[in-house]
Amino acid sequence: MSTVARRIIQIIEPEPVLEGAGVRLKRSIGTPTLDYLDPFLLFDDFTSSHRADYEAGFPLHPHRGIDTVTYVLEGEVRHKDTLGNAGSITAGEIQWMTAGRGIMHEEMPQVRPEGIVGFQLWVNLPAKLKMTRPRYQDIRSGEIREITRENGARIRVITGTVDGITGPVTGIAADPTYLDVFIPPHLSFTHPIERGHTAFAYVFAGEARFQDAEGANDPLVSHPHLVVFGDGDSVEVTTGTSSARLLLVSGLPLGEPIARYGPFVMNTKQEIEQTLLELRQGTFVTT
Ligand code: MN
Repeated sequence: MSTVARRIIQIIEPEPVLEGAGVRLKRSIGTPTLDYLDPFLLFDDFTSSHRADYEAGFPLHPHRGIDTVTYVLEGEVRHKDTLGNAGSITAGEIQWMTAGRGIMHEEMPQVRPEGIVGFQLWVNLPAKLKMTRPRYQDIRSGEIREITRENGARIRVITGTVDGITGPVTGIAADPTYLDVFIPPHLSFTHPIERGHTAFAYVFAGEARFQDAEGANDPLVSHPHLVVFGDGDSVEVTTGTSSARLLLVSGLPLGEPIARYGPFVMNTKQEIEQTLLELRQGTFVTT
């Protein structure tokens, strides 16, 4: 049986967006260009070295029906919710939060000399889990195994499996892969991704080539760009004179209808209206 490398179907230029209380970020999923990449609803890059871009943060706001995944590489994001959970996401750490039936929280990037480097991904929950109990997976940097291959490629495995190493984030409905991959110059990196799963790469440093739709003249994708892949068995990344660092993410599409309103993603408009009613009545967060 032959294996098929996944080819580029779209290269997304991140769009500048003002979010929260005035955070300037770059959005690649959840825009008019790419509204939904089932099961991924949103992908934001809030990296900045200018405090005015991020210090306003994301004051108290609700979520329902989704997972929010916050990965920080420099700086710190402090968070707390109305259930009494609080903590800090610092360099190399990830928070995989299943909002389920409801979380009301704040996420505040801290002003630091190094600024902030970080990403937030929203993963949809299947209808049967939208009202599940909220769950946090706070992963410290030391819990994320970093694989260093002989050729110098380094892979941090957050969820999914590489070289027999399985990441610490578990039990997510979308069966996701989330890898942070560094590839030195003049190298190739291949990762198998199950057929039928949605896959994308977000190049956030350097540049890399991916298989072109026609299989020839593979384009060099510079940072920051998001590459959406068609179906196949694996993703192949090749570097030229520059190294590349990218997030490689995949997940099982749900194929369910979505009704989306800001931080709430449900299946029907009626469920959104019910959510807004609960917010007005003060019954949104029940535990
Ligand atoms: Mn949030």
